[in-house]
Amino acid sequence: MEQEARRLGAKDISGVIFLTLADIRREMDDCQTCGLGRGRRNLVFGEGDEAARLMLIGEGPGADEDRLGRPFVGAAGQLLDRILAAVDITREEVYIANVVKCRPPGNRTPSPAEAGACLPWLFRQLETIRPAVIVLLGATAFKYLIGGTTGITVVRGKWLTTKSGIAVMPTYHPAALLRNPGWKKPVWEDFQQVRDRYNDVIDPTPKGGGLRRKLQGPAS
Ligand code: SF4
Repeated sequence: MEQEARRLGAKDISGVIFLTLADIRREMDDCQTCGLGRGRRNLVFGEGDEAARLMLIGEGPGADEDRLGRPFVGAAGQLLDRILAAVDITREEVYIANVVKCRPPGNRTPSPAEAGACLPWLFRQLETIRPAVIVLLGATAFKYLIGGTTGITVVRGKWLTTKSGIAVMPTYHPAALLRNPGWKKPVWEDFQQVRDRYNDVIDPTPKGGGLRRKLQGPAS
């Protein structure tokens, strides 16, 4: 009911106030909480279905994303599209966001201070969307969403569960796959797991019914 209320833009049902993504986007429009705000061309808020059951979280915008104000639209984003298509998930049915909403200069990793400044916005997005499954794309997303010092090469491919019951799959960032093509196979295996968990969420009947998607083959 809450998901439907949000989809319809309802703000007050049974005394509960729902923040929509548009509300959050408006609030952060002029954000200069950290130094990354000064260098941005566009703030990259995130995009997708406000009621998505599956959310993908990356590190931060690159040059193409900064120019267009959209997440994952450069070469790494195109690879992500192919990975999703290979497991029969469309970009429109998920929500895609980053740890930081403004581009770090030269595509460097955001500093802990920058990530810490921007994370409250991501947490508000999570509270609104309330996904059932989250894919953490890369070490930065894992570090700031889960914590700890374990490397992404160790944790990828293994399901984690948040205190609120969200299933979390860490995997490599698509940009890392462009540099290390040998990592495509493990990512393909990770997304097969994601697809199965996601299908169980959207269609929890014993066999997944007619919504069970067919395996198509690895993304190239
Ligand atoms: S990166 Fe986040 S916290 Fe920093 S200025 Fe941009 S929106 Fe604000």
